[in-house]
Amino acid sequence: RHSMLACSCLESTVAATDSSEPPSEKYEYQAEVSRLMDLIVHSLYSNKEVFLRELVSNASDALDKLRFLSVTKPELLKDAVDLDIRIQTDKDNGIITITDTGIGMTRQELVDCLGTIAQSGTAKFLKALKDSKDAGVDSNLIGQFGVGFYSAFLVSDKVVVSTKSPTSDKQYVWEGEANANSYTIREETDPEKLVPRGTRLTLYLKRDDKGFAHPERIQNLVKNYSQFVSFPIYTWQEKG
Ligand code: ADP
Ligand code: MG
Repeated sequence: RHSMLACSCLESTVAATDSSEPPSEKYEYQAEVSRLMDLIVHSLYSNKEVFLRELVSNASDALDKLRFLSVTKPELLKDAVDLDIRIQTDKDNGIITITDTGIGMTRQELVDCLGTIAQSGTAKFLKALKDSKDAGVDSNLIGQFGVGFYSAFLVSDKVVVSTKSPTSDKQYVWEGEANANSYTIREETDPEKLVPRGTRLTLYLKRDDKGFAHPERIQNLVKNYSQFVSFPIYTWQEKG
């Protein structure tokens, strides 16, 4: 019996070593998040373009946080990268990336911020949803309260967040899919993707929403929604 146990331990060690994939850990969403995601993914909400405003405002918040914290901790700015937001569109593949050089997230912050409902707006949204028995009202609520980060799933099948906090020596990758109850976190190992600081969101657009990856469309949305953002927003497109 004892030897069998030892044997199975050995097997699992071998399996792990054999795997060429970097170790990735799976997490279940908090129940409220699952519910919210389900709603976002299946809603008939037509004003999907709000995703850009939400994600740019998160980027702007992250830059604000960094700027604020750096007043007392100037070492946070030691990597001399500009404070800005870059939006890249790849219309051929239906991919949008939104990059900021803000405060980033540690591994724990990824779990706390992108796996649970911490923010008040989303909590209010769920409360309003609970109070309304009428399913048809759901999609209006999305616009009324804003659903923050999860609004990425209004237009995306898959969202990948690669992020580096200046307080952590490692960069982490959060990956979630529209129709899943779980997400994964792993360490960023691709040397080309390592950044000194900040967050890059990659949105793999749904088939019907790939039009958002057209540069003119993004530029218009940025103009309409994000004119009050106090950091430069650059947009550019992948060469076709
Ligand atoms: P809110 O912005 O209202 O807090 P969101 O759902 O938009 O809610 O975002 C949840 C949290 O995830 C944020 O509060 C923040 O801590 C974290 N977050 C999201 N995007 C970024 C980013 N680009 N950089 C750093 N942290 C982020
Ligand atoms: Mg937000």
